[in-house]
Amino acid sequence: MDVAIIGAGLVGRLCALELLKRGAQITLFDQDSADGEDAAGMTAAGMLALFAELESAESIIFEKGERSIALWPAILEELGIGDAYMQRGTVITAHPQDYPELDHFIQSLQAKVPQAKEIQPLDARGIAEYEPDLGHHQKGFYIPQEGVVDAQRFMEASYRYLSNNPAIKWHEKISVRDEELAKYQKDYDLVIDSRGTGAKDSLSQLRGVRGEVLWLETDEIAFTRPVRMLHPRYRLYIVPRPEHRYIIGATEIESDDKSPLSVRSGLELLSALYSLHPSFGEARVLKCVTNTRPALTDNLPLIQKEGNLLTINGLYRHGYLMGPSIVEEALKEIK
Ligand SMILES: Cc1cc2nc3c(=O)[nH]c(=O)nc-3n(C[C@H](O)[C@H](O)[C@H](O)COP(=O)(O)OP(=O)(O)OC[C@H]3O[C@@H](n4cnc5c(N)ncnc54)[C@H](O)[C@@H]3O)c2cc1C
Repeated sequence: MDVAIIGAGLVGRLCALELLKRGAQITLFDQDSADGEDAAGMTAAGMLALFAELESAESIIFEKGERSIALWPAILEELGIGDAYMQRGTVITAHPQDYPELDHFIQSLQAKVPQAKEIQPLDARGIAEYEPDLGHHQKGFYIPQEGVVDAQRFMEASYRYLSNNPAIKWHEKISVRDEELAKYQKDYDLVIDSRGTGAKDSLSQLRGVRGEVLWLETDEIAFTRPVRMLHPRYRLYIVPRPEHRYIIGATEIESDDKSPLSVRSGLELLSALYSLHPSFGEARVLKCVTNTRPALTDNLPLIQKEGNLLTINGLYRHGYLMGPSIVEEALKEIK
């Protein structure tokens, strides 16, 4: 089977990895260079936030997320980066004035899925057992089932793996417009449109949701798992990466604008971070990254098959959380 994958971001790469197992010949097209710098998949923190995402999402996200958490370790092992997967749960906390909101948040999760009963309430001692640097916080919760994928390592390793496979051809810096898809459909047995926000002309309801993250470095804090802080106006997360680095995110702004971090977002993210722990005050800001998440009106993923054109899009904030299981479902009838 000869397959064209248009858009080699997170979804395109997951499709390629799966189709290789079925003996397909695959050509990957991307408007960006093959290293994927422009893909949202390269910006993401890679959190597999099964519960934290449920507050504003449907329970399908939980089911698909659970399945993806089961699939990720084998995908990363195959790429030779099994250690890019970490499942140590998440610690979530808040400032004292926001404790009612924190309780309400956890109760709303428990009302949605029975598995949320496993979320553990923590006092200061309990928090310190999981994250000693957060011992000054009096109240929090531990969510054991959540994990994280080192998204940047996945993007780098998948590029290397796919480039070294003789069944793969890369065509970088080729922008495929909607009206050209029919031509590809003639040339290939199967065409996968996984252009993320780049497919807006084909999918009228598709929109971009701007997200800004900061990369920080400090050896004064040693978080060992993702930490979230609940706040009435925004949600802050801190995701540890190797070499004392942290991803701080993320804003959520209804806009297709990929321009650099705004002063307001920087101030909000960094002041929330500083209020979580003042030792972040001496951290060094390594870079600020902005991208847009591809989202449909219902913020749920879309799998659409028309003839030999398979469209997978709308992964929104959940590309890592749901990608493997969505791709599994989308390709289940492809032999
Ligand atoms: C700031 C931020 C933080 C995030 N954090 C998380 C997280 O913690 N956990 C999580 O699960 N998800 C997270 N996400 C969401 C996740 O990154 C996306 O859901 C996912 O990347 C979507 O995958 P995709 O393949 O559809 O799009 P992308 O990864 O954006 O890939 C699309 C590809 O298509 C290419 N393309 C576009 N147009 C064309 C064209 N015309 N021709 C050829 N190629 C084209 C692009 O260059 C790109 O490589 C985050 C996203 C952002 C922005």
